Amino acid sequence: MKKALEELVKLAIKEKPKNVIQLRRIKGEIAKKDGTGMATNAEILKAYRSLVKKGEIKEDEQLFRMLRKRDVRTLSGVAVISVLTREHPCPGKCVYCPTEKDMPKSYLSNEPAVMRAVLCEFDPYKQVEMRLRALYDNGHPTDKCELIVMGGTWSCLPPEYQEDFIKRCYDGYNKKESKDLEEAKKLNETAEHRVVGLTLETRPDYVDEKEVQRMLDFGATRVELGVQTVYDDILDLNQRGHRVEQTIQATKLLKDAGFKITYHMMPNLPGSDLDKDHKMFRELFTNPDFKPDQIKIYPCVVTKGSELYKWYKEGKYKPYTTEELVGLLKKVKKEMPEYVRIARLIRDIPQESIVAGSTVSNLRQLLQDGGVECKCIRCREPREAKVDLSEAKLVKRGYVASGGKEIFLTYESSDEKYLFAFCRLRLGEKAFIRELHTYGQMLELAKGEKAVQHFGFGKKLLAEAEALTKKAGHDNLWVISGVGVRDYYRKLGYNLEDNYMVKNI
Ligand SMILES: [Zn+2]
Repeated sequence: MKKALEELVKLAIKEKPKNVIQLRRIKGEIAKKDGTGMATNAEILKAYRSLVKKGEIKEDEQLFRMLRKRDVRTLSGVAVISVLTREHPCPGKCVYCPTEKDMPKSYLSNEPAVMRAVLCEFDPYKQVEMRLRALYDNGHPTDKCELIVMGGTWSCLPPEYQEDFIKRCYDGYNKKESKDLEEAKKLNETAEHRVVGLTLETRPDYVDEKEVQRMLDFGATRVELGVQTVYDDILDLNQRGHRVEQTIQATKLLKDAGFKITYHMMPNLPGSDLDKDHKMFRELFTNPDFKPDQIKIYPCVVTKGSELYKWYKEGKYKPYTTEELVGLLKKVKKEMPEYVRIARLIRDIPQESIVAGSTVSNLRQLLQDGGVECKCIRCREPREAKVDLSEAKLVKRGYVASGGKEIFLTYESSDEKYLFAFCRLRLGEKAFIRELHTYGQMLELAKGEKAVQHFGFGKKLLAEAEALTKKAGHDNLWVISGVGVRDYYRKLGYNLEDNYMVKNI
């Protein structure tokens, strides 16, 4: 098999397949000759790498790209790794939540990240290790990683478990067991796989000043809040256990500490309707109390083992049809402001777990087919588009949110179709950079070889943010930064202070 794979690589280099169909023909040829099955791209990639290492072949960018599994999660230049915490009692009694044994309450055991976690017996070190290996095998860069801790309400977990969990996550990236969390964080600053962002997931009613401080100590940079709706009557009906007031407070506390915020929103909840859901999304971006940086939309679905299942059986709840849901989401997308990113339109729940509700796993595709213009960050990411960076322009968009002034600074194409880099500057009591992001180390550029991340947009945005901070009368600019990015800021004159990178300007 190994020999056949090497032969395949050499043949592919010679014949230069232009697309996957041509590559498939080569695969077929070898399989026929060798009497084995068709080789997978990951297998061929492994053989390719070993031949390059042995010096038997030269690197072939076109072939490498073809073998690499397309995965939007790494197209932004950052490898996203989700890990799951072990089950602990959840304080919520939400009617739509499935209650499966041995699983964190709001997850179902056949979701991909969950299956991985089960295989690893929920050990965070192993989960990180396994995902890193899979990304590498599929040809993805793993030097910059984002860590997302899932499993429900982070803040309800026992403190010792939390600390050990995060430490072992860093250990997984560092490929080394450290003696404590501080050492693990320190090691990651210069590790091969650096954590450039850490996301924790919690409920709005569990966020207070003490909790915010603990999150900072873990090196967290983003918090996902289970907001679900902005209407108290719907929260009550669904036994969510908190009110809108707590969402507003949590949002302010987190933003004032520099965090990026993702809201989980749930249209189609009992008590709502298409019109009310549309108003809800509009409210999110017109009311300064909300204005999240990112949203994940999880339409409510009926799963077995939930209280909602009974309501559905009794005819008390009826989910939207696919057409209704798509219609709603199209309207929502049209009204998105430029500073938000729709990170997810529908959850990765396998069809077999859903009794009723949207089972359309390609909902995003369905939405795009209608040619909906959406200005959100995700829709303007350049992905693999050919772009001309020399035409990039700086754009400043200001808005008021949670008692502070936000400036969304971007570099984008002259027609504003593509976003190359962005920065979230918050001018409140303190000046914060809540996010600085440049896109696409994998971009194929129209001219030259430089990818966006090497075009200096990050540094230009930072300089602009510093100038605006000074102009607003602040002496210091604070940056919330994943531990793996600290070195980047050090080189630009920032110093570590209370978990932030700070510069006196
Ligand atoms: Zn969008």
